[in-house]
Amino acid sequence: MGIKVRIPTPLQKLTNNQSEVECEGKNIKELIENLDKKYPGIKERICDENGNLRRFINFFVNDKDIRFLEGDNTELKDGDEVSIIPAIAGGTDFREDQIERYSRQIILPEIGGAGQKKLLNAKVLIIGCGGLGSPCAYYLAAAGIGKIGLVDSDKVELNNLQRQIIHFMQDIGKQKTESAKEKLNAINPDVEIVTYPLRITSQNIMEIIKEYDIVIDGSDNFPTRYLVNDACVMSNKPLSHAGILRFDGQATTIIPHQSPCYRCIFPEPPPPGVIPSCQEAGILGVVAGILGLIQATEVLKFILGKGELLIGKLLVFNALEMSFRKLNIHRNNNCAVCGDKPTITELIDYEQFCELRSSD
Ligand SMILES: [Zn+2]
Repeated sequence: MGIKVRIPTPLQKLTNNQSEVECEGKNIKELIENLDKKYPGIKERICDENGNLRRFINFFVNDKDIRFLEGDNTELKDGDEVSIIPAIAGGTDFREDQIERYSRQIILPEIGGAGQKKLLNAKVLIIGCGGLGSPCAYYLAAAGIGKIGLVDSDKVELNNLQRQIIHFMQDIGKQKTESAKEKLNAINPDVEIVTYPLRITSQNIMEIIKEYDIVIDGSDNFPTRYLVNDACVMSNKPLSHAGILRFDGQATTIIPHQSPCYRCIFPEPPPPGVIPSCQEAGILGVVAGILGLIQATEVLKFILGKGELLIGKLLVFNALEMSFRKLNIHRNNNCAVCGDKPTITELIDYEQFCELRSSD
């Protein structure tokens, strides 16, 4: 008993139209030599002039890709089944490892190969690598978002680790963007990670967001929230908003000039001291996780063009009641930034007025 070799259609004219042949060989290399003796010309179709396997041809031994075994040195024994699989024109442009990595979402009819390609071509900016940004970035990288930008000026501190799950003990003292980048690269090297270890201001925000398809606000202070909202409205950039405090969370998705913006709901930031920050009032870590993943879900749906986004809706979550409520929100024609006659036409750095700490 030898080795059963499955021959793909394009090579069958060399094997007298047989789709399956028996051959010998103690490894793939030897098998190819022996195949060529029986069916002259087959080797030059499979290997280049240096004898290396052509890159558009894959070998599988008993359903295992030899590139994840020993390549053409992969050993064979009697009874093994070898499949020769060439790339087929009109098929997918995915690498074999991408097909395997994303298989559980490619099989969803709402995603498929076309949707996966959209994800791989998408560019998402995450502002804040903290409680919201951590889970959000993990799942977006895992799903295969092509490019993820990370903005955060802070360094990792021990009190962050309770909820900012992308940072580990060993990262304390490290720039948050760098710490997050390392984890995301480790999950999925397909993703290009761009870091902005800086404080986002009226001076730099426009330049940064213009590179991206959608922005995620994972900051936890009012000056940044209003700055990000206004910049996104002014540059017509979709925005996923979420806020968290204690056991509560809120989320909405903003498509500028189509759906209400953050200022339509809350026209002005509260004066300093009226609404406490997480630093002062506390936050249950999982609440950040839940809201961060709601943002990730919204972004994936936006990129795929599937489902109903939280546009015109404010999702209000309470962990103690375990309640999710969707409130209808409306565009305000008099909104200072997205209304008919906007009065805010330049970005405002509220930190000049507020004395809130910049990050959570
Ligand atoms: Zn508005």
